[in-house]
Amino acid sequence: MRVYWRRLRPGELDHELLWLAVSVTSAGLGAAWLAMQLPWPSCNFRALFGIPCFTCGATRSAIALLRGDLLQAWTWNPLATVTMLGIGLFDVYAFAVLVLRAPRLRLDLSRAKWLLAGLVVAAAGLNWAYLLSTHE
Ligand SMILES: [Zn+2]
Repeated sequence: MRVYWRRLRPGELDHELLWLAVSVTSAGLGAAWLAMQLPWPSCNFRALFGIPCFTCGATRSAIALLRGDLLQAWTWNPLATVTMLGIGLFDVYAFAVLVLRAPRLRLDLSRAKWLLAGLVVAAAGLNWAYLLSTHE
């Protein structure tokens, strides 16, 4: 894995702008959904099999995070909590480089992609095992 900074090339997709917009729009829509007291999403996997899927608790985790209750967020869904915190860090980074017109952080994952894929699958599996052991 190689980590480096460089300027955006002419015509290159601006990932920071795109994913910051997607993230902020999604968070805004989610907040509006909850503010309008619309029904919470239900889990079709849980309804079908009677056990939580590996994303169950993510909505409650997000709400706990927004309230600043990190422990409760972690309890609902550790992987969702870590993911949302990572998205928050990315958003801060993306906003900063956009405002400052700074070089962009780039990762060359070509040598580590299988290791990263394995880590993601292992994290999802561990998260699911946790949810199966703690929630009914
Ligand atoms: Zn679920």
